[in-house]
Amino acid sequence: MTCALPGCRNPATEAGEMCAACGHWLRSATTRLTADDIRARDEYVQRAYQQQRSKR
Ligand SMILES: [Zn+2]
Repeated sequence: MTCALPGCRNPATEAGEMCAACGHWLRSATTRLTADDIRARDEYVQRAYQQQRSKR
């Protein structure tokens, strides 16, 4: 079986699991993002959407 991530053809240990490479960068990415980081990121997206809407 292959990695659960679409487009990745690396072998995975179990069905539905990610390969070691994808699992490594996904895990490190999620632990680095704190709740505040996510809120700040979402606020930026919300602002961008609101600016787009107000231009119409
Ligand atoms: Zn993978």
